[in-house]
Amino acid sequence: MNRFIIAVVAGVMTAGVAQAGVTEDDLNNDQANTSQVVTNGMGRHLQRYSPLDTLNKDNVQNLFPVWAFSLGGEKQRGQETQPLIYDGVMYITGSYSRVYAIDLKTGEEIWQYDARLPEGILPCCDVVNRGGAIYGDNFYFGTLDARIVALDLKTGDVKWRKKIADYKAGYSYTAAPLIVDGLVITGNSGGEFGIVGEVQARNAETGELVWTRPVIEGHMGTLNGEESTMTGELNATWPGDMWKTGGGATWLGGSYDHDTDTLVFGTGNPAPWNSHLRNAGTPTEGNAGDNLYAASRIGIDPASGEIKWHFQTTPREGWDYDGVNEVVAYTDRDGNKRFATADRNGFFYVLNREDGKFVSATPFVKDITWASGIDDTGRPIFIEDNRPGNPADAADGKKGSVVFSSPGFLGGKNWMPMAFSQNTGNFYVPSNEWGMDIWNEPITYKKGAAYLGSGFTIKPNYEDHIGSLKAIDPDTGELKWEFKNEAPLWGGVMTTAGGLVFTGTPEGKFIAFDDETGEQLWSFQTGSGIVGQPVTWEMDGEQYVSIISGWGGAVPLWGGEVAKKVNYLNQGGTVWTFKLPKQLAAAN
Ligand code: CA
Repeated sequence: MNRFIIAVVAGVMTAGVAQAGVTEDDLNNDQANTSQVVTNGMGRHLQRYSPLDTLNKDNVQNLFPVWAFSLGGEKQRGQETQPLIYDGVMYITGSYSRVYAIDLKTGEEIWQYDARLPEGILPCCDVVNRGGAIYGDNFYFGTLDARIVALDLKTGDVKWRKKIADYKAGYSYTAAPLIVDGLVITGNSGGEFGIVGEVQARNAETGELVWTRPVIEGHMGTLNGEESTMTGELNATWPGDMWKTGGGATWLGGSYDHDTDTLVFGTGNPAPWNSHLRNAGTPTEGNAGDNLYAASRIGIDPASGEIKWHFQTTPREGWDYDGVNEVVAYTDRDGNKRFATADRNGFFYVLNREDGKFVSATPFVKDITWASGIDDTGRPIFIEDNRPGNPADAADGKKGSVVFSSPGFLGGKNWMPMAFSQNTGNFYVPSNEWGMDIWNEPITYKKGAAYLGSGFTIKPNYEDHIGSLKAIDPDTGELKWEFKNEAPLWGGVMTTAGGLVFTGTPEGKFIAFDDETGEQLWSFQTGSGIVGQPVTWEMDGEQYVSIISGWGGAVPLWGGEVAKKVNYLNQGGTVWTFKLPKQLAAAN
């Protein structure tokens, strides 16, 4: 009886409110509200931690599949999306810029949207999409031809569609857009084509551009259609005109820290990869050749697009150690507000949340060759002999000295998001132990062509595994436990108050681990490799877990000796949804 009255009152109230659908409050409270998942990261802090403990270490063996949804068609390849859960519907993005709305109870399709992609798109690293955003009555996502699209949440009809950048110049888009205070905020992809990284903010209702912030020094930002300020200082850390095609793609999107009202975006490699073309000097000579703000994390004012702070993980970067990996906001054991990020370069960084200042860095992979450590200011202590050589020093000028570098260019950790547990205070980092032979070559910029000036061969560091899920204490950098996997890990991680850590493997297994010991408590074979991101929510008093399965992403595209570890894996495209049935919640 009570429930009926509440429902009627809620219905009346909703009818009288101008803005229906997902609100700013919903986004802020996403972690605490266990009945929905409306942010990428399961909460704005990107902790990917659920306070749900219905499903726990004692009963996870009773977790069963309730439905599976095939993306269908002939288009498979990598499925990297994080499902969003809202008002009885699951929203997912798929490879080739597709979107699906699925009935949460039955797994039946409600609508599907296929972006019509032009010939000649230039995605560097598979045709993936990493998820959408919901705000008001709209679903937002980006496409491989570098557009941002707003769809009607109920019907999938296009409300607006805007161009982020020119796909013919190598721009593309794969990240989940970010919503902050009525703005849709996007980065861009294309760091291997000499594009310029940028962050753009649009009016979520109309799609009109509000501000732009290029992330390479010398470029001008805009605000309300006018020039605003220059990023950095022209030629302070870049020689000549190299900044004009300087890379720094903001390809993994960003996050929003409500406590400090700051957008945090990471930036990719400076272009080209051959660092000698961007810095002929040594890194001990001040910061003249650092190539700001590539390979950095940047704090941005969401109202104006002005840069508030920056922290560069790899100055004068020369290994494709993109600085894009997600920045997770958390509170450490002493009550300090921190950011943590596990960089491509192999170091796990803790930063101060207020100003992005360096706190600590520890290696999270075993065999880092390019730096002996990070100094007290956060700057790497380079091992100069392990920098790939300058082709200009070679007798024929065509190929610089070859060095072995670890991590390899795909990084100690790539895009796949780590998780933080409020239960243990630890981070769970999907990492890979691999290296590469790398050398530099001459290169000149040509629009729409790869702009690397490097060659490379990626190889495993160990016979028995590349993948390594690590539980890391962020206060000490200490490794608490490790799960080794033969193929490289490429999927996201999730933690729960029930003491569980979920992730998937390219071999297809979706696994629940004990967050304290690393013991495997449950697993399910999904039929294709997992490179997606798990979520959990509660519906009708039962806890659900979903993961997308569909092998692909960057790993199978780059060959080398790693190819042998993955070339037998089958493609796919299926969302699996599991639940702990009510009658089995107490059993064990
Ligand atoms: Ca890159």
